[in-house]
Amino acid sequence: MEKEKIKEILFSRLDRYCRIHTTSDPASKTFPSSKNQKNLASILEKELKAIGMKNVKTDKYCYVTAFLEGNSKSGKTLAFLAHMDTSPAACGKNVKPKLHKNYNGSNIVINAGKGIILTPSNCPELKDHKGDDIVTASGDTLLGADNKAGIAIIMTGLETLIKNPHLPRPDIKVAFTPDEEIGRGTDKFNLKDFAADVGYTFDGDIKGTVEAENFNADAIEIKIEGKSVHPGTAKNSMANAARIAAEICSCWPENMTPENTENYDGFIMFDEIKGSIENAVLSGIAREHDIRKLKKMENLLRKIIEEKKEKYPLAKISLEIKEQYRNMKSVIDKNPMVLNKLLNAVRQAGIEPRIKPIRGGTDGARLSFMGLPCPNVFTGGYNYHGPYEWISLDSMYLSYKTLLNLCGQWSE
Ligand SMILES: [Zn+2]
Repeated sequence: MEKEKIKEILFSRLDRYCRIHTTSDPASKTFPSSKNQKNLASILEKELKAIGMKNVKTDKYCYVTAFLEGNSKSGKTLAFLAHMDTSPAACGKNVKPKLHKNYNGSNIVINAGKGIILTPSNCPELKDHKGDDIVTASGDTLLGADNKAGIAIIMTGLETLIKNPHLPRPDIKVAFTPDEEIGRGTDKFNLKDFAADVGYTFDGDIKGTVEAENFNADAIEIKIEGKSVHPGTAKNSMANAARIAAEICSCWPENMTPENTENYDGFIMFDEIKGSIENAVLSGIAREHDIRKLKKMENLLRKIIEEKKEKYPLAKISLEIKEQYRNMKSVIDKNPMVLNKLLNAVRQAGIEPRIKPIRGGTDGARLSFMGLPCPNVFTGGYNYHGPYEWISLDSMYLSYKTLLNLCGQWSE
């Protein structure tokens, strides 16, 4: 009974938030990157006040924060975070969520006309959700459960805590943040004012998933200065920068590219190549969970560059590697309770946690290095950033339970 009631509340929030257009814009120089995000921020601000949260405010950068006093003496302040923007990878305007009740294990038709159909073969993760209530978009847009499901779960959890003051809880802070999808979600976040001891981003996927490690990430830029000569008289006097760039790119071992790696395998990806005979720039990214392996991979790239320098003495070739972000595991390992209490909370919700390495970065990773250890918790969705996105309301309920259990865990 209680479960069905909460699922209804979770759905009504998810549905409401998803309909608000909050796509972030990587081309924008403003913060937040798109004005639309402020519309959701103002709704959330009102709603936080209405459910009884304290110190509710939205700052000029569109960070919505609030506070709830604890009823236990743990002395720690626990934070819950989720992001308001949706990925610019797919349209996020005029989202119309569709509820598919009591999933029967076969196909889910998102849009018959467009042939957008979820099946157990194009999405084996569905097999585990027979009997669940599933929410999808309607074929023209993404759904935006990433990360509006996180917001709905946190909001509903807070409401339950306030209505049930006997439930144990430490002091709680909440933050809804803009621009996560374009990698700027923590750029203007005032962590010092926020003043929490430990945080959890509710921004993961399938039920039970817990993410406490992510890639170490560097950006790569290779610059090549060539030497242009009339092709008719170029023998031994031309250096073609564009061709050298292409050669470096093709020298990189295939088994260390994103399209050939998974789980804990790292890669270097060249994602842009620009050039002419005189000048070329080859840029890319290096990703690896293990920092020593990252350095090893980068040394291999350096070796390739040295070989090309020797092969093309008329060209000038330089390599620059810049740190982007680091694996939060090193921070979380120093605070083992942060992960242990989360694993306990997931188990208390009745599921076995699945610890998964993130093949990317998260706001949680950045926050961890800023001083707020911050693993990532499942919300119950999948196929994010596109029209096949879906989420299970039953899994959202488990995520909500995990949040309440975390409050219990941090009250001890
Ligand atoms: Zn997300």
